Amino acid sequence: MVVIADACNKLRGTYLSICSSGFNPSSLSPITFRTIYQSVVVPKALYGGELWTVIGASDMLRLERSHRFCIKSMQQFHSLTNTDFALASINVNSIENIIDRKKLVFFGQLCRLPNQYIAKQVFINRLVRYLNNDKQTKGFVPEIYRLLYKYQLQSCLDGYLQSGLFPSKQAWKQMLQRSVSAPEHHRQLESIRDVCPTLNLDDVLHVDKPSSLWKISRISPKLSPLIATLMAQLGGFLSRSYPTVCSLCGIHTENKLLHSVCFCSRRELLRESLWDAVIYQKGFQCFIELIRKTPLEQIVTLFEMTLSTTDDNRLNNQLAILLLRLVC
Ligand SMILES: [Zn+2]
Repeated sequence: MVVIADACNKLRGTYLSICSSGFNPSSLSPITFRTIYQSVVVPKALYGGELWTVIGASDMLRLERSHRFCIKSMQQFHSLTNTDFALASINVNSIENIIDRKKLVFFGQLCRLPNQYIAKQVFINRLVRYLNNDKQTKGFVPEIYRLLYKYQLQSCLDGYLQSGLFPSKQAWKQMLQRSVSAPEHHRQLESIRDVCPTLNLDDVLHVDKPSSLWKISRISPKLSPLIATLMAQLGGFLSRSYPTVCSLCGIHTENKLLHSVCFCSRRELLRESLWDAVIYQKGFQCFIELIRKTPLEQIVTLFEMTLSTTDDNRLNNQLAILLLRLVC
């Protein structure tokens, strides 16, 4: 579809032109970038998306790829970072979910529109024809039926057909948040949990809001380079690993993070500094428990120690710096 190719180009093109005009991901908080993306880039690319009634799987995949490119880029993530992590950490939904929601918002506007408007009369006419099994009715009405069924919102249309009453703008918005957006956020978090069930990310990722680390990054700009690197490493840990060569010892490794933290012979001094900090902060018993764990469990524990709540801040700065020195 030409319109989809155009939308893909607009997503990437508008995003990149914003980047080149001075709003660079390295200098702007991802939360601020997200606001710009959602209020400028997405509306421009998806203009008229309410009426895209036939989007094939391959077209949707192209749109999702462009969307993921922007979402990962604004958080300075590697392109192979786990997509659900990239979306959840900044609280953005998939493009399919965004388009579905746009269509349902438009449907609500049509239902609430006063009867004297031609758009309302055309909508009711097509709705009635569809209900009477008129085969000529294609497009928006069957698509709305599909979406109402998909998100279990049929009762709203049934009520409208019986009484002529439709939920108010605010009530419909809340219903869409509850039935369309929130389940997608829960799915993202479940998918991340499936990758590493032992890693507790309750302090980092939340339903319906961006990661608390990005919030700290916005409040304390001095910490933002450290947080960006930490988030990128966490994202890498939750993504598919790929073969790479250690830049210090030259050994081929499947998992760079695991190699750097637990095995790299050229990082002994950095590793000792990290262990010293763990002993100093958490006690010798905690350190003994840590080094008795498997290498993978050690990384999970180190991430949890780094990301766990402390009195003054939600980030253990010293451990984070030492862990990242070891890894980067
Ligand atoms: Zn190495």
